[in-house]
Amino acid sequence: GNDSQLQSFKAWLTQRGVLSNSSSVRPQQVESQGLGLVASGRPIAQGEEVLNVPQELWMSVAAARSHPDIGPFCTNLRPWVTLALFLLFEKGMPSSPWRSYIDILPHTLDSPLFWSDEELAQIEGTQLLGSISGYHQHVYNEYTQLMEDVITPNPQLFDQSMFTREAFLWAFGILRSRTFPPLTGDDLALVPLADLVNHGMVLNMEGPSWEKKSSGFFPRREYLTLRAPVAVKEGEQVVMQYGKKKGNGQLALDYGFVECSPRTTAVRDCFTLTLEISESDRFFGDKIDIAEFNGLSSTVYFDLVHEQELPDNMLPFLRLIALGGADAFLLEALFRNTVWEHLQLPVSRENEEAVCKAVLDGCRFALAAYPTTMDEDLNLLSRGDLSSRLKMAVAIRLGEKKALEELQLSFETRLAELDRLEYYAARRLRGLGLLDDRGDLTPWVFEG
Ligand code: SAM
Repeated sequence: GNDSQLQSFKAWLTQRGVLSNSSSVRPQQVESQGLGLVASGRPIAQGEEVLNVPQELWMSVAAARSHPDIGPFCTNLRPWVTLALFLLFEKGMPSSPWRSYIDILPHTLDSPLFWSDEELAQIEGTQLLGSISGYHQHVYNEYTQLMEDVITPNPQLFDQSMFTREAFLWAFGILRSRTFPPLTGDDLALVPLADLVNHGMVLNMEGPSWEKKSSGFFPRREYLTLRAPVAVKEGEQVVMQYGKKKGNGQLALDYGFVECSPRTTAVRDCFTLTLEISESDRFFGDKIDIAEFNGLSSTVYFDLVHEQELPDNMLPFLRLIALGGADAFLLEALFRNTVWEHLQLPVSRENEEAVCKAVLDGCRFALAAYPTTMDEDLNLLSRGDLSSRLKMAVAIRLGEKKALEELQLSFETRLAELDRLEYYAARRLRGLGLLDDRGDLTPWVFEG
C-alpha cells in the first residue's frame, strides 16, 4: 500500500546517498496535504539546507533529451511536453530507474483542471472557469500533436495504453504542481524528495527555497538544494512559499488548494482586469503608439488585489482609452513625450467621468455573472463541512467578487467627487502662474 511505497522511495534515496540517519528532514504523510517534509531528530534553523538532490536523480529535460530511446523524439518538443513524454514513458516501464519515485506521485489531483462538470458549475461566472477551458485546449492540442508525431508511429517503443488523454493531462498537472524556480523553461525538472515540500504561509521570506548548486570537480555535480525559509521545531513541517502573488484562482489551478486563513486571505483575493484599446476607436493608431511608447500594448492585464492600491498605469491607461472630444489634442505628436505624464492626473471632467462609467459598467457586468451572493458564499465557508473542492470553488468566487466590489466602490466614490478634482486645463493655468492655490485666477492678470 501507500506506506510500503513510501518505504521503498526512502530506501531508493538512501541507496543514493540523498537520505541518511543524519538527514534533517524525513518524508512523511501530513494531514490533508499528502506527503510532506518533516524536521527529523532536531530543529532546523532559518536558511538551513535541508536536502541536496544530485542532478542524476532529476527527471529533467536534459535527461529526456539524452535518453537513448526517447531522446531522438524530444528535439522539437516544448520542455513540458518533453517531460510529460518522459514521465509517462518511465511510468510504463516496470524497471524504470525512477520506479519508486513515480509510485509515490499522487494519482489524482485537485486542480479544477480535473474537476467534473458538476464541480465546475460551482465556479460559474469566474475568471478561473474561463482559463480552465484555455488550458484544456492547449494541453489537448499538444497531446494530439505528440500522438500523431511520436507515439502512434512508434508502437514498438511506446506502450499506447500509457498515453491516454487523461494520462497526459495528469502529467501536465504533476509538472505544474511540482516544479519550481529556478528549474523552469529548458531547465524544467522533477526533483524527487525536493518536490515533497508543501506550501506554507511564509510570506515575508527572502529568496527562493529551491536553489541550484554545483560542487566538486571530478566530476562536477549539480544539486538541487532546499533551504528552510523559516526555522522549524523538530517534528514540524518544512514548508515553502509557492507564490507570494498568486491569487486563489491561480493556487487552485496550479496546486489544487486555496488559502483561506484570515491572515493571508486578502492577497489571495483578486481579479484580473483586461483593458483594451478598441480597434474601432477613431484614434486607435495614436493610442497604440502612446501605449507602446510607454511599455504597454493594445491589451493590458491589471491584477486587482483586495485591499491594495490600484495597479500602476491602470488609471492612465483608462484615461488614454477614454480620451477623445475636446481632449483629443493630447493625442497629437507634439505631446508624445509628455502625454503619459498628463494622464497620471485627471484630464477633464468628461474624460474622468467616461473612465468611471466604463469601469462601473464592467464591474456590474462581471458581478452579474456569479450565481451566488457574497453573503451566501461566506455562509457556506463558515459551515466547515465542505469538501475540499467545494471549499476551493467558494473561496475563489468569493475572492473575485471581493476584488470587483472593492473596485466598484472606489469608482462610485470617484464618480461622486468629479467636481472636486483638478483637471488638465486648471493645472496648466496654475503651471503658468495664472491660478492661485484656491483655483481662482490671480488678480495680477487683470491688473496687467
Ligand atoms: N504533498 C505533495 C505530495 O504528496 O506529493 C508534495 C508537495 S507537491 C510540490 C504540491 C502538492 O502538495 C500540491 O499540489 C497539493 O496537492 C499539496 N499541497 C502543498 N501544500 C499544500 C497546502 N498548504 N495545503 C494543501 N495541500 C497542499
